[in-house]
Amino acid sequence: MMKALTAAVLGITVLAAQAAAPLAKLTTPGFARVMVGDFEVTPLNDGTADLPMVDLLHNDKDRTQAALNKAHLGSPTTTSTNAFLINTGSKLVLVDTGAGTLFGPTLGKLVDNLKASGYRPEQVDDILITHFHPDHVGGLMADTKVAFPNATVHADRRDADYWLDAARMAKAPKDVAGFFQGAQVSLTPYIKAGKFKAFDRNGEVVPGISSYASYGHTAGHTSYVVESKGKKMVVVGDLIHVAAVQFDHPGVTIGFDSDPRQAAAARAAVFGKIAREGDLVAAAHLQFPGIGYIAENGKSWTWTPANYTLRP
Ligand SMILES: [Zn+2]
Repeated sequence: MMKALTAAVLGITVLAAQAAAPLAKLTTPGFARVMVGDFEVTPLNDGTADLPMVDLLHNDKDRTQAALNKAHLGSPTTTSTNAFLINTGSKLVLVDTGAGTLFGPTLGKLVDNLKASGYRPEQVDDILITHFHPDHVGGLMADTKVAFPNATVHADRRDADYWLDAARMAKAPKDVAGFFQGAQVSLTPYIKAGKFKAFDRNGEVVPGISSYASYGHTAGHTSYVVESKGKKMVVVGDLIHVAAVQFDHPGVTIGFDSDPRQAAAARAAVFGKIAREGDLVAAAHLQFPGIGYIAENGKSWTWTPANYTLRP
């Protein structure tokens, strides 16, 4: 009797200790890993930002809100920023760099996640930029130093000409001037060191990775086609921002688009090609890791996230 009672008391004590465990509150690690042929691809999360998508999307606000509600998303909408590290076997290539310090404390986690994924920033050989917005180029700098000291940066000349133009910045409306400033602060040290290379047309930038013009979101917005052993992945940058709205209604554009009509046309063209060819997609602002497949569905698209796999 006494023994049973003691056990019961002990049982209660153990339960109480479990209930009092504090929340771990560690940030979710922000890297994943997929293979494209022989290339190892590491999606890296730079963090999330809460964006007022109901106001930013060029769409009926009630319709946007209804689509967000259906997807269990709030307003403002928590939005990932993803970059992609690709080890081709001969080169370590980073596509986009996150926001660095340009977009507040909830972004700028890319280098920490890159290190957690088993690499070091000084190992990066080449950086391919989709476009010069601050959440894609801000991570080129770590405070006042270059974040990737051994890397050469590549981008379409149209984006460089546009965002690095001091005269255009002087004439820009106040809310866009910061975008020019961010681009100039991030790129100038690389340009001065002779480590910026602009390209003018579609073609191979590093072995196995080619540029594919998808202008509209910005003047020189570029997708990158990664190809190894007959397998392909297309890094689409900012061709889409809000999965819950824009896959069903691809005509809906966003306030960040330089030329919304051209951006929607680029989305239709690139998504059509991807869907026909069955390529893997890597997107900057779809929920982390931003990797999946697109299928054509009449006038809309169906997004299927890639399966999760544990790899050594
Ligand atoms: Zn972006």
